[in-house]
Amino acid sequence: ERERLHRLRHKAAVTLDGARVELLANIELPGDAPGALASGAEGIGLFRSEFLFMNREGALPDEEEQYVAYRDAVLAMNGLPVTIRTVDIGADKPLERMSGHELRHEHTLNPAMGLRAIRWSLSEPQMFEAQVRAIYRAAAHGAVRLLIPMLTHANEITASLAVIKRVREQLMRESVAHGAIEVGAMVEVPAAALSLPLFLRHFDFVSIGTNDLIQYTLAIDRADEAVAHLYDPWHPAVLRLIADTIQQANQAGKGVCVCGEMAGDIEFTEVLIGFGLRSFSMHPACIPAVKQRILRSEARRLEAYAHDVLRSEDPRTVVRAAITSSVKAA
Ligand code: PEP
Ligand code: MG
Repeated sequence: ERERLHRLRHKAAVTLDGARVELLANIELPGDAPGALASGAEGIGLFRSEFLFMNREGALPDEEEQYVAYRDAVLAMNGLPVTIRTVDIGADKPLERMSGHELRHEHTLNPAMGLRAIRWSLSEPQMFEAQVRAIYRAAAHGAVRLLIPMLTHANEITASLAVIKRVREQLMRESVAHGAIEVGAMVEVPAAALSLPLFLRHFDFVSIGTNDLIQYTLAIDRADEAVAHLYDPWHPAVLRLIADTIQQANQAGKGVCVCGEMAGDIEFTEVLIGFGLRSFSMHPACIPAVKQRILRSEARRLEAYAHDVLRSEDPRTVVRAAITSSVKAA
């Protein structure tokens, strides 16, 4: 079976009725890129840059160190797109205490709701600028997309885009080699999903972070074992936010990807296709199984299935019924 999945590597993910689906990889370090290619990824949908910042002694990585890391990932992908997310420090991805860097979120009661991700970046403008510069410079070597985590407010969008614009002007003025980038927003806070038109106006693409979207929609700490049984990706409210985001982005002609755990979980492949999703980003190891699922599915039929799932008070019963009928049919 492993062998057979491996042979799927060079096969494109197309449904039986011809819908093409893009399968991308999530990585944490440039060294993960070759493995992503080996599993058949068509690009990097999420490079979690915070891992360059974590588990290290001394100072945080400067522009040069980040540039080298991003460039290495871009070169390793041989021209395939690499989506670099600006740091998502805080909450489940804490920084060690370090000299010269006061970490204001350290003792807060609710770090997941505190100074994390873009909130942290905007509070550390020099760090943010250095990272954006490094990303622009890496784009001189291949297709690069910049992705911003945890955006919630219109003023965060404006402030982030202003920094990105200013950095680009600086690089041009200084004649520093760089490339054009697409800029996208993570949709991982319910407020973002509920104000999607604002995001679609300002960004080239959106990427749905289901891990946090579930956490914030259900008020369940994603890392708290005591409430793990309540962390439910099938909750109708979660599915509604995901379906609406995909539909609105498709309608606006903007790229939309799912890069949370759901994208790599074969329990959700059909329903996400049915919602209209055509771009998935996941741990490289999940790619073959998801691809196999897609190769056996019919997008047209899954639309009706996804509609039933969305209308149900208990979506799992719809899923179980679908599995039973497909087993009977086989
Ligand atoms: C997510 O929240 O779904 C996501 C992809 O980001 P992370 O897991 O890094 O928070
Ligand atoms: Mg997240």
